[in-house]
Amino acid sequence: MDHSDRIFIHGVSLPELQEWITQAGEQKYRAMQIWEWLYHHQVEDWDGMKNLPKTLREKLSSSFVFAALERESVQESETGTRKILCRLTDGELIEEVLIPAADRRTVCVSSQVGCMFGCAFCASGQLGVKRNLKAGEIVGEVLAAQREYGDRITNVVFMGIGEPFDNYDEVIRAVRILNDPDGFCLGARRITISTCGVVPGIQRMEDEGLQVELSVSLHAPNDTTRDALMPVNVSWSLEELMETCRIYTLRTKRIITFEYTMIRGINDTEQDLADLIVLLTRFPCRVNLIPLSEIEEYDGRTSKRETVEKFINRLEKAGINTTVRWSKGVDVNAACGQLRSKSMGNSLRMKPVPQQSL
Ligand code: SF4
Repeated sequence: MDHSDRIFIHGVSLPELQEWITQAGEQKYRAMQIWEWLYHHQVEDWDGMKNLPKTLREKLSSSFVFAALERESVQESETGTRKILCRLTDGELIEEVLIPAADRRTVCVSSQVGCMFGCAFCASGQLGVKRNLKAGEIVGEVLAAQREYGDRITNVVFMGIGEPFDNYDEVIRAVRILNDPDGFCLGARRITISTCGVVPGIQRMEDEGLQVELSVSLHAPNDTTRDALMPVNVSWSLEELMETCRIYTLRTKRIITFEYTMIRGINDTEQDLADLIVLLTRFPCRVNLIPLSEIEEYDGRTSKRETVEKFINRLEKAGINTTVRWSKGVDVNAACGQLRSKSMGNSLRMKPVPQQSL
């Protein structure tokens, strides 16, 4: 079916839906009814909206479409983390990762088909970007994850395939829809946007008035190493990035988390540690150390345990709030994109689980 002339319903805000309803000659309260079907009952087609007249359902279906995600395959790690390969309505593939914990059901969503940033350790970045996801598709990922869990999603992280700030408008639109108290009602603080360091995106976020968490993939304490690992650094240098983050923190009063993947001999030397401390003591922030998950596509090796422990001790001594993830690449706070998901496939012996529709 050709959906090209119709809009994804899950990418429409409540005020926009109210405006559409009025223009369609319907009563305004119908918009809230539709909204409840979408986000409280989470129906998957128009026929499920049982208290709407058939004529209205027909009008809706001629203007809007559901962002049905077809589940292509699912792999599960020993820790219960699930990587789901989803086919979008135009046939493109994306991944989402479900990370269950005792009190959390987190979904890691993709924001683009592919990525243009080409980080050295990331498979998806090496293929370039094919297209941006629409907000309705991103919200669709979250709803699909909730169906997969069979329980409410508690946290959404934009750390799947793609750079969220390279698709800024649709990502922020999706965040606002997920955050709507009358709809999905996910607290903004339970949503994390992770950027590889797209400075204009961080600057725009300052004015959004959103309480979302911001995470920045740092991965190196100097331009030479960062240039080699993350080509984004050529566009926005470390100095420019850190100054932007300082101003963001000052203006929003929000604490940024810096992700630092530890790679043996590349970014874990004594000098790297000293430089990292200088960088991270400029303003209040957190750092998350992630021993590299070794993957086929990148020949870097993970840091030794004693090196990671030295980093933790010295960073904490310098007053920097430090966490470390030893989770073999499945942790949600790892670097964005395929670093984590590829490594799950390779090193965690993910096993396929039976197919069923999302
Ligand atoms: S790690 Fe993230 S920003 Fe870098 S290439 Fe991969 S998806 Fe893009």
